[in-house]
Amino acid sequence: MIGNMKKLYWALLNKRKRVPVLKNPGYCPTCEQDVTFVARNPWLRDHYCCSNCGSIPRERALMRTIETHFPNWRELTIHESSPGDRGASKRLSRECGKYIPTQFFPDKKPGNIIGKYRCENLGALTFEDESIDLHVTQDVLEHVFHPSKVFSEISRTLKPGGAHIFTVPIVNKTKPSSVRAQVSGDGRIFHLEPPVYHGNPINDRGSLVTMDWGFDICRHIYESSGLFTNVIYIDDISNGIRAEYIEVLMTLKPSESETTNAIP
Ligand SMILES: [Zn+2]
Repeated sequence: MIGNMKKLYWALLNKRKRVPVLKNPGYCPTCEQDVTFVARNPWLRDHYCCSNCGSIPRERALMRTIETHFPNWRELTIHESSPGDRGASKRLSRECGKYIPTQFFPDKKPGNIIGKYRCENLGALTFEDESIDLHVTQDVLEHVFHPSKVFSEISRTLKPGGAHIFTVPIVNKTKPSSVRAQVSGDGRIFHLEPPVYHGNPINDRGSLVTMDWGFDICRHIYESSGLFTNVIYIDDISNGIRAEYIEVLMTLKPSESETTNAIP
């Protein structure tokens, strides 16, 4: 009798798991197809997927932002740090002839090609000044120990009129950014909060979260680079864009004419 009850319980539980939390037809900005978006888990950020390309909401929000603000992105020089192997990264890689994917390999010389990646440290890039049209990062900036150096390097290497378009979880919605972990000069890590790790495609241990960002990230960027940042919030299930921490940030480097016009 108890065995039958257990079977019934598990059957009901599995049935509930299969029932979508959210399911709707729409157009995927990542794979450019009419698709169905389905989530079977209420944490939409990781589970509201495109039936065709498997992308998640932040990837579609990023791609829509790039399409909207830089519709000529296929002709631009795009650097993406720590790209994924699907969704927006895959599309940028496939369609942009001057797409440069990079990963940081601590034991390799920056600037060298390691497999399909160029080795680059975001805080000390080997790119020339004003050589990149678009820097792209997806959920990377919550893992760096020296974000000011990153923002400064991104500004140095951006061409005038270019942008850094990125996603980062803004988890501190109503309080300032806070540091979770720091590193000393000899490489020792100090945890100011209990360690949290996110998945990393090239490291089984995952990536340590170093920063809980708030909306004051825009001030951090300005103080490090002198550049202004737009926070773009999209909620549009017709493009499969609905999730927690869905903001896309776009830091713009003024074009030469904008800079000239600013001088009286
Ligand atoms: Zn898709």
